[in-house]
Amino acid sequence: MEKALRILRDTFGYERFRHPQEEIVRTLLEGDDALVLMPTGGGKSLCYQLPALARPGCGVVISPLIALMQDQVAALRQLGVRAAFLNSTLAPAEARETEQALLAGGLDLLYIAPERLLTERTLALLERAPLALFAIDEAHCVSQWGHDFRPEYRQLEVLHRRWPGVPRIALTATADARTRREIVEQLGLQHARQFVSSFDRPNIRYTITDGGNARERLWRFLEREHPNDAGIVYCLSRKKVEETARWLQSRGRVALPYHAGLPAAEREANQQRFLREEGVIVVATIAFGMGIDKPDVRFVAHLNLPKSIEAYYQETGRAGRDGLPADAWMAYGLQDVILLRQMADESDADEQHKRVTRHKLEAMLGLCELTSCRRQALLAYFGETMEAPCGNCDNCLSPPATWDATEAARKALSCVYRTGQRFGVNYLIEVLRGKEDERIRRFGHHRLTVHGIGKELQAAEWRTLFRQLIARGYLEVDHEGHGSLRLTERSRPLLWGEEKLELRRRQRPQPVKRARATPRPEIGEFDAADAALFESLRALRMELARAQGVPPYIIFSDATLREMVVVQPRTLEEMRSITGVGEHKLAHYGQRFLEVIAGIQVPLERSKQT
Ligand code: ADP
Ligand code: ZN
Repeated sequence: MEKALRILRDTFGYERFRHPQEEIVRTLLEGDDALVLMPTGGGKSLCYQLPALARPGCGVVISPLIALMQDQVAALRQLGVRAAFLNSTLAPAEARETEQALLAGGLDLLYIAPERLLTERTLALLERAPLALFAIDEAHCVSQWGHDFRPEYRQLEVLHRRWPGVPRIALTATADARTRREIVEQLGLQHARQFVSSFDRPNIRYTITDGGNARERLWRFLEREHPNDAGIVYCLSRKKVEETARWLQSRGRVALPYHAGLPAAEREANQQRFLREEGVIVVATIAFGMGIDKPDVRFVAHLNLPKSIEAYYQETGRAGRDGLPADAWMAYGLQDVILLRQMADESDADEQHKRVTRHKLEAMLGLCELTSCRRQALLAYFGETMEAPCGNCDNCLSPPATWDATEAARKALSCVYRTGQRFGVNYLIEVLRGKEDERIRRFGHHRLTVHGIGKELQAAEWRTLFRQLIARGYLEVDHEGHGSLRLTERSRPLLWGEEKLELRRRQRPQPVKRARATPRPEIGEFDAADAALFESLRALRMELARAQGVPPYIIFSDATLREMVVVQPRTLEEMRSITGVGEHKLAHYGQRFLEVIAGIQVPLERSKQT
């Protein structure tokens, strides 16, 4: 373990292990197997990278994400680690070179795609090399029930049979109890020690907003919180992706579209710019994200309602992997609720599948309409209890006002009933507000008792009320796609005055200024001088990254740059104490960064801008 600590400090530049890294490392160093469940950003990679360095031989990492391997290897080489990968993107000559390095004992870590690993040729190659461990990344890919199922993962048991003496570690960020059992069974990990971390992501602030004009609200959010930051905006349709990207561009942001309908080359180019430049926004359908390892995504915004809490948690989880404050922001409205309800009812799937889909949507809507802590509800959904409210979600920071909506809801439900359960929201609101046009006269609805009984609320307020009634199951949307509303069993007691209804108010108080639950100096707000220094350090990082064709965050993370701003080291010795500055980076970059901090050097990128 002493050796492990030395590697942690000298190679990675970290002062201490994060819980439970130390126990996991110890397990592997003792030659035992481990199964690690840790949320995104928890620090999984260190759990196998460090033991691979501490044990004799090469660590073999199996990962399905070929697109990521290159950057992972580049990041390790920045640390001075001898790393390489084997996958289909390599030319035969390059692959041979890597194989020879492996056999000569010249590699610490080798990343391999599962289909490549399982070829007899590769297996035979590995038998001739000294091996430190096997790491099976994204281990949930073994599950037939998940979205990321990879059939080859089911054959990885071969590793255990052919190398019984080499310890194995399986890692994932997405595993419920069932998936965990599958991983254990399929990979033969019955004797592995299990490390299950809390799935909370305390640095992510959850905000869910409702009401009209989602785009303008998104813009205000970006202006206020993330004027220069990189982030992802998720939309449901390709058309909305392209419109939104153009709209953000027209307002001066670098915003790039990403969806399955774009030519592969354009998708790839947009993804590369997102990874390699600073402050780029990707507007995407859910096709974007799997395999995005960018640690400094500062916000994930949803302009549509996700289909389930699982999807919401996975997508928002791409924010803030580096542990610095990040936002999960969402806007949703009546149309989302109607559309998703219809999709859940209409799909070709069998009844059982439909029931599950509907159930998941209910849970998602419940989260949206919630008036208490969102994080408590999210964690509870995944079977975790959190004792106190989190203090870092919209409901905690500015508790929503509620109102007694019983009377208004009864009016709305009566209106649905009296007009024959054949009309959509817009028409119902016109009747409630007493409009008398040709259509209303034709149906004779101007003579109904409900006509004009709802003038006390604005049309927008009625829309909110209808959305909440649909979300809570008091009304259902027709299956034919006309959007007409019908009463449900649930609505009777409310209609007959046997039940009261409290709803969240539409107009919410202004969001309070970011108050952090646990203020940490390295992530606090900067004053103008510090902000300028931070930008200069970022510019130098960009210059160095460009020169080597790598993403800037693998030179130094934002967290490391922030610590430099706070500590302002003056010597290499002081620089060495900064988190994320190991020996290799100190030798290569230390001097340049010291000069910027001392104000001696102006980075190229910055002098170009000014
Ligand atoms: P995961 O793979 O679980 O999503 P990573 O391995 O990418 O997470 O780690 C997330 C971030 O945490 C990275 O920026 C990494 O450098 C940092 N990190 C990991 N372990 C430590 C540690 N012991 N001390 C400081 N930072 C750490
Ligand atoms: Zn909360």
